[in-house]
Amino acid sequence: MELSEYERAEPAHLGWTDAGDVRIVWKDAHESVYPLAYLRENCPCASCRGTHGPPTTLVRQSRGGLPIVQKTRPPSMEVKTVVPVGNYAIRFTWGDGHDGGIYSWRLLRSLCPTTGSRPDHLATAPEA
Ligand SMILES: [Zn+2]
Repeated sequence: MELSEYERAEPAHLGWTDAGDVRIVWKDAHESVYPLAYLRENCPCASCRGTHGPPTTLVRQSRGGLPIVQKTRPPSMEVKTVVPVGNYAIRFTWGDGHDGGIYSWRLLRSLCPTTGSRPDHLATAPEA
């Protein structure tokens, strides 16, 4: 994906899917859906980047190749609040109190799971 494709990315709509995933419709009409675990795994804050992501049970288990079906999310995969940061980003407060990550529109667009840069453990997940 070319940088220019998302460097001016702005959302036209920000909301939730029925499954509880974050859904963004961009001004160029591209639609992105982000599972919360995926967003948490890609938390851009210094402490998460320094440890290659939060040491959550879900992340560890999902690396084994077997899809994990959980009826309830661990607290670190729940979102308590989402607040705007200026007009360029949003900040999640997770169920475990972690709120260090600021997700800029540009970051979110670059993380979009549907534009070809999808991580293997998501790409191989079966349809629910
Ligand atoms: Zn973090």
